[in-house]
Amino acid sequence: MSTVSEKATFATPVPGGLLDPSVWGSKVYTGGQWRSSASTLRVREPATGETLGVVGESQPTDLPAIVEHAQRVQAKWALKPAEERAALMRRAARVFEDARPALLDAIQRETGGVRGKAEVELGGSIDELYHAAALLIQPEGQILPSSNPERLSLARRVPVGVVGVIAPWNFPLLLAMRSVAPAIALGNAVILKPDPQTPIVGGAIIARAFEEAGLPAGLFNLINGGAAVGEALVEARGVRMITFTGSTAVGRRVGELAGKHIKRVALELGGKSPFIVLDDADLEAAAAAGAWGSFLHQGQICMASGRHIVLRKVADQYAEILARKARALPVGDPFREQVAIGPLINERQLARVDKIVQDAVAGGAQLLAGGTHKGPYYHPTVLHHVTPAMSAYELEIFGPVAPIVVAEDEEDAIRIANDTEYGLSGAVQTGSLERGLRVARQIRSGLVHINDQTIHDFAGIPFGGRGTSGNGSRFGSVSNLDEFTEWQWMTVGGKPTPYPF
Ligand code: NAD
Repeated sequence: MSTVSEKATFATPVPGGLLDPSVWGSKVYTGGQWRSSASTLRVREPATGETLGVVGESQPTDLPAIVEHAQRVQAKWALKPAEERAALMRRAARVFEDARPALLDAIQRETGGVRGKAEVELGGSIDELYHAAALLIQPEGQILPSSNPERLSLARRVPVGVVGVIAPWNFPLLLAMRSVAPAIALGNAVILKPDPQTPIVGGAIIARAFEEAGLPAGLFNLINGGAAVGEALVEARGVRMITFTGSTAVGRRVGELAGKHIKRVALELGGKSPFIVLDDADLEAAAAAGAWGSFLHQGQICMASGRHIVLRKVADQYAEILARKARALPVGDPFREQVAIGPLINERQLARVDKIVQDAVAGGAQLLAGGTHKGPYYHPTVLHHVTPAMSAYELEIFGPVAPIVVAEDEEDAIRIANDTEYGLSGAVQTGSLERGLRVARQIRSGLVHINDQTIHDFAGIPFGGRGTSGNGSRFGSVSNLDEFTEWQWMTVGGKPTPYPF
């Protein structure tokens, strides 16, 4: 907790625009108002350490009033016609579209990502808003068989109520929006807690967009802070559902607390996704896909290719091509230079990644590329002959590291792919569609791709993991109906039903 007064450094924001700190600086957004708080959080640019802005910090004691107000406005919002709710989502999408260039800059700077990553994140977030609007053409329920012909029997989808959303720093806008947009569209109110490292693009601009779009006050609330505020949100009386995207360790804690209070909880957690290369694959294409899968956004993606599982016959050749590609990737500040690999989010993460790499080398892995860093930039790293004795085999690294594990045959590759508690994504590279299908079907994951890599997402698919990558929740498309509404059985009769009592 700190009180900081540095000036925000986002380059000349449009006055009154989404990034204008005179609106949101040192504030949180609750009950439809930007409010000052007793303490603030400094937002640091990972590439330079410069201050990008200062936001208000929330306290656990703020929550009861926020929830109480959100409950009241949610009850009215749920009764609004679907088209009115849909129109609001479309307006918020247009607000983002109109601010596109400045938002892309801000996403790049706050998350340390390349331009393409920012484009995917902003475009995906806008898609989430349009998909949430489109969701409202779906039926709101079903007419059920009735045991009494005089009475109509219905199942209705009703909003859950107030939904708490906790999001991480790697794709802060998108991973918040994929819950926020469908939740509000389907008649819920939301309290969002972004990661304290990315509260501007992961929070302030969302609040501003809904404000500009005319969302009724109190339906979207932004609180800032870390674990204490996050746990208070999970435990807050009146918050009926939590969606959490983040690490498995914290997800376990969030799940425990939600269980204690009998709350619905959607957990989207970590991964160690297998990227299998069979011996009939096009190795040049496979290595290009594998490099993308492990190095995109410095490997700080839940679906990153966590293990390259390569059949022995082609393993050395594949490893050499992958290492050549890794060595060729330019590294630096992606906002100011033309690079492919930017900074890691913070020094703690850099030290953790380096320790995993050095431990693997000490344990006998062959370092074919990288393994060093300059400032916040970790060089794309290829580790060959990784074994289960090394932490690089087991742990989610969240850095630009490609561990290669040699498999004896197809069956062995499947065994290694499933030799993890995680189960988010997976991929198989092969010259044979039959082999691809056979292997892909046996990978225990929520997402799997044949002749592609592991990182794919889109608003129109049921996104989620198996094992410790999640608790079975699925975001996207019509899965959002199941996540953000509950069934209510209703019967209707024109006359009172007679009873003998
Ligand atoms: P994290 O778990 O440390 O933090 C995520 C969020 O939880 C942040 O907002 C943080 O402030 C909050 N938090 C921390 N402690 C809390 C507590 N005790 N109670 C409530 N909230 C708390 O995760 P991270 O390091 O920011 O993100 C990286 C992780 O997220 C990786 O494991 C990655 O795989 C995962 N992730 C998963 C998905 C997915 O869709 N499955 C997507 C992106 C990232």
